[in-house]
Amino acid sequence: MNGKTLVVTSGKGGVGKTTVTANLGLALARLGSRVCLIDMDLGLRNLDLVLGVEQRIVYDLVDVARGECRLQQALIHDRRESRLYFLPAAQSVGQNAVSSADLVRLVAGLRESFDFVLIDCPAGIEAGFATAIAAADAALVIVMPEVASVRDADRVLGLLERRGLRDVQLLVNRMRPEMAERNDMIGVTDLEELLGVPAIAVLPDDPEIVVSTNRGEPVALNPHARLRRHFDQLAIAVAGQQLHVLDGIPPSGFLQRLKALFA
Ligand code: ADP
Ligand code: MG
Repeated sequence: MNGKTLVVTSGKGGVGKTTVTANLGLALARLGSRVCLIDMDLGLRNLDLVLGVEQRIVYDLVDVARGECRLQQALIHDRRESRLYFLPAAQSVGQNAVSSADLVRLVAGLRESFDFVLIDCPAGIEAGFATAIAAADAALVIVMPEVASVRDADRVLGLLERRGLRDVQLLVNRMRPEMAERNDMIGVTDLEELLGVPAIAVLPDDPEIVVSTNRGEPVALNPHARLRRHFDQLAIAVAGQQLHVLDGIPPSGFLQRLKALFA
């Protein structure tokens, strides 16, 4: 097996990287793929909380990198989706605790057994980001329809290009179609045009996410959750069975202002 390693990144914090990593991982596993999630947010881990497996952590990524345990001892096997595994981040360490070489070696091993390795990136473009992208062969850049998020995504896209990563797509998160229709929010077409990268999916802003995160029950597991369908479609697109799952949201008047920002 030669799995695909996808880094979920954004530059800006709080845009949905961890939420997307958890739910996309679950949805891909339900589709039939073997999936391993890696929390690279060293020091500020919370993918374990979103997945609801924080009580099960014994060893973590840093223990594995330092040779203090075997990979199999640190991997958490999800009890709800049998094809999903999770490698947690360490808590009281800095972003340098795992080197690029360590992560590249670890991921090379995981690709033998998994169809997808998803890496949840820390915020920012410092050491943890550099390590995470070093090990990836594709990137999903999460962007919110807000000026600060767009500017950070643009910066990240430049760094991904410099690293030679070609397989890069946008995921627009927390879209509010009614605001985009009123031209109060930047639209998806504008985002794609500004950033020069196609959007693989658009996720609406949905308070159910907050409730699910607090409970450690990702929406992708809840058959009644509105967003589950979106994550299933995203998983199909990521698995290459379909190219676009756009919801067709009209362009907005933010384009001029954003263009000026990037000029
Ligand atoms: P990051 O990992 O990029 O810092 P998180 O995934 O932790 O971001 O999400 C930040 C906050 O935004 C969390 O409280 C999460 O529940 C919320 N959130 C993420 N996506 C959505 C969404 N589509 N609708 C509503 N809230 C969301
Ligand atoms: Mg996060």
